[in-house]
Amino acid sequence: MGIVVQKYGGSSLADADAIKRVARRIVETKKEGHDVVVAVSAMGDTTDELLELAADVSPLPPARELDVLQSAGERISMALVAMAISDLGFTARSFTGSQAGVITDAQHGKAKIIDVTPGRVVQAIGEGHIVIVAGFQGVSQDTKEITTLGRGGSDTTAVALAAALDAEVCEIYTDVDGVFTADPRIVPSARKLDAVTYEEMLELAACGAKILHLRCVEYARRYDIPIHVRSSFSHLDGTIVRGSIDDDDHQQQETSMEAAIIAGVAHDRSEAKITVVGVPDKVGEAARIFAALAEAQINLDMIVQNVSAAATNLTDISFTLPRSDGQTAMSALASLQSQVGFDSLLYDDKIGKVSLIGAGMRSHPGVTAKFFSAIAEAGVNIGMISTSEIRISVVVDEVDVDAAVRATHSAFDLDSTEVEAVVYGGTGR
Ligand code: ASP
Ligand code: MG
Repeated sequence: MGIVVQKYGGSSLADADAIKRVARRIVETKKEGHDVVVAVSAMGDTTDELLELAADVSPLPPARELDVLQSAGERISMALVAMAISDLGFTARSFTGSQAGVITDAQHGKAKIIDVTPGRVVQAIGEGHIVIVAGFQGVSQDTKEITTLGRGGSDTTAVALAAALDAEVCEIYTDVDGVFTADPRIVPSARKLDAVTYEEMLELAACGAKILHLRCVEYARRYDIPIHVRSSFSHLDGTIVRGSIDDDDHQQQETSMEAAIIAGVAHDRSEAKITVVGVPDKVGEAARIFAALAEAQINLDMIVQNVSAAATNLTDISFTLPRSDGQTAMSALASLQSQVGFDSLLYDDKIGKVSLIGAGMRSHPGVTAKFFSAIAEAGVNIGMISTSEIRISVVVDEVDVDAAVRATHSAFDLDSTEVEAVVYGGTGR
């Protein structure tokens, strides 16, 4: 039997009892005859607490030290899990990201994994040990500094290890039973998906479904690693993420109506909207605006440009971006005002995004109309719209997000007729 990589999230490692439970679970897999490599997150809300502590100590902590601080959370978990395993009569070796060979670029706080050289992990497996790796962290190839991968990054650690070790599967243990058709905290009748393609999961993750880190899904798709998302609080089968919407059998299922048209409804409350008011409608202005934002390293999401008013020849450009980048973007744009000659800037962070995702919308007309009428019937106004091949997203008022999600979920008959979704732990933080 081959290698199984498992990842346990913070809510599965909330306290000493939880850690002992996770250790038993890891040992069960080892007893089945697998070699086991585990990536762990920081216990409970440790990462948030460390960040709050840093903010109390310093208004602007250096990025290098923030990464040293945050990486400590996962190191605490890895040592405690290894101790609990040894009490069960098995040996475990814990490694930091750096020791495990997780090599990243030099970007503190959002480093990308560029290589995994798991020599020590392979050696420890060969010696019969269970290996526990601190998730969410690595070491920069250039600067040799400790880096972190961005919030939720332990998932990516797990998939990257699975790829490097040629594992059979990467199991991501969390506090819900799998990937649901909507956040069960908003829609209690949300249904668990048995399987979902990489592309659909990518869209779900990019649109705010917090169940898997976006980068982890990208990684899994690139290396064709199946991910099994499941609960550490039950033994139920979870959701298998694998396969492409472009695979022949998937397309056949789609046209023969066997596959579900819609995979789910995602929502995101982490974005803000900026409107550049009164931009002169001439060649090159949009390019200048977006070059300034690119220079400030800001990832944009939706972009809308209105037709210019004939009388003034001025137009408005609106776009959405992560709220955390709002200040940076506003200052970058403000410094451009005299150059471009726009009238003013508007900032709105009381928005939310609701997205409908499903490969079946490619072959089934009418999905957009149904989505928009469900939102209208819920009395919710649509601010912006964007689409991809398998997704439609709308921006609405933040207070309307829950209503829009629920209305959409039932309009597409996604509600489960069986038991309600269980949220076992976590603070949803
Ligand atoms: N502990 C980190 C976080 O809270 C990484 C993770 O949980 O995956 O974001
Ligand atoms: Mg986490």
